[in-house]
Amino acid sequence: MTRKAFKYRLYPTQPQHKDLERTLALCRQLYNAALQERREAYQKAGKTVGFYEQKRWLPEIRTELPEYKGVHSQVLQNVIERVDKAFQGFFRRVRAGQKAGYPRFKGRERYDSFTFPQAGQTGVKLQEGGKRVLIYGIGSVKVKLHRPLEGRLKAATVKREGEHWYLVFTCEVEPRPLPSNDQAIGIDLGTNPHFLVTSEGEMVEAPRYYQKTQAKLARAQHSLSRRKRGSSRRKQAQRQVAKLHRKIANQRKDFHHKIARRLVNEYGTIVHEDLNILGLARTRLAKGVLDAGWGRFLQILAYKAEEAGRRVIKVDPKYTSQDCPVCGHRERKPLWVREFRCSGCGGHFHRDVAAAINILAKARTEPSGMGTAWAVP
Ligand SMILES: [Zn+2]
Repeated sequence: MTRKAFKYRLYPTQPQHKDLERTLALCRQLYNAALQERREAYQKAGKTVGFYEQKRWLPEIRTELPEYKGVHSQVLQNVIERVDKAFQGFFRRVRAGQKAGYPRFKGRERYDSFTFPQAGQTGVKLQEGGKRVLIYGIGSVKVKLHRPLEGRLKAATVKREGEHWYLVFTCEVEPRPLPSNDQAIGIDLGTNPHFLVTSEGEMVEAPRYYQKTQAKLARAQHSLSRRKRGSSRRKQAQRQVAKLHRKIANQRKDFHHKIARRLVNEYGTIVHEDLNILGLARTRLAKGVLDAGWGRFLQILAYKAEEAGRRVIKVDPKYTSQDCPVCGHRERKPLWVREFRCSGCGGHFHRDVAAAINILAKARTEPSGMGTAWAVP
C-alpha cells in the first residue's frame, strides 16, 4: 500500500472562514503551550515530557477551556503529535551531530493547518456527491473535487494558503505496477542551468515559466524592501511576495512530478547520488542544487517508483565527477570546467553526463546499503 495526497480547494462562507481561523488559532496556542511545557521540563529539570504524558491533558483542557470543545479531540491529539515530531527531529539531528535548531514557537503565519488523523472514520465527511464536505467544528463547506478521490481515506488536513483554504486528503492506494522494464539510467544532480542530466546525455532544464516567476519574485522582494514599516503598501507588497513564493513552490512541484513520472515510465531502475551522505553539500553540490529542491524531487521520485514497482538506487557520490567513465582515470577538475577531457584515454564528454554514467556504473558494482550487490541490467 502506498499513500497518495489529494488536494482540493475549499470555499468557506464568511462565518466559516472565521471558524477556520479560530480553530487554527486554538491549535497554535495548544502547540505553543505544549512546546513551552517541554522546554521548561528540559531546562529546569533535564526531564523530557513525552507524547503520551501530554496527550493526557487534553480531556482536561476541553473541560476547563470550553472554546476547545469546538475542536475535534483527534485534531488536538495531532497537535501534540506535531510537537512530539518537532522534538524527535531535533534530537535526531543532535545525535547525528548536525546543526539542530531547538523547536520554536509558531507565530500566526507559521501555523497554517490542522489535521484529522482518522478522517476515514471521524471528523470529516463528503456530502452531496462531493460538492460539500462536513468538517467537525466548522460545518458543511463547499468544496471542489476537480479530480476523483481514490483508495481508502486515512487522514484529512485543512490548510490555509494566503487567502485560500484547501482540504488535503491522504489516501491509501494499491500500488499499480507498470509492466517490467529492464532499462536502467543514472541521473546527475544538475548545477545551473540543468536540473538533471542523464547517463544517456539528456539535459533537463528548469522550465522557463518557473524562471520567469523567480524573476518576478526578485522584483517584488526589492519593492518590499523599499516600503515603510507598518504602511499599508508594505502589507500589500508582503502579500504579493508570499503569493509568488506559493506560486513558485507549486510550479516546482508540478515540474518535479512531471520529470519523475517520465523517468518512472521509461526506466525500470533509476540511480542517483545519496544526498544524505554528508559532505556532499560542501563539495560538488553547490548551493544551486539545493535550491533546485533535489531533496523534494527525490522524495517524489521514490514514491512514484514504489507505486509503479520500479527501483531507485542511491549510490555514494564520491568521485562520480572525477572519474573517466571510459578508462577510470581519476582527476580532480575545477567546477567551472564543463567539458571532461580525459588525460588517460583522450576521451571527452560533458562533465555532468560523465558523472551520470559513473553514477549508473556505481549501482552495478557497489554493494548497496542492504549489504548485497544489486543486479543492475
Ligand atoms: Zn579515460
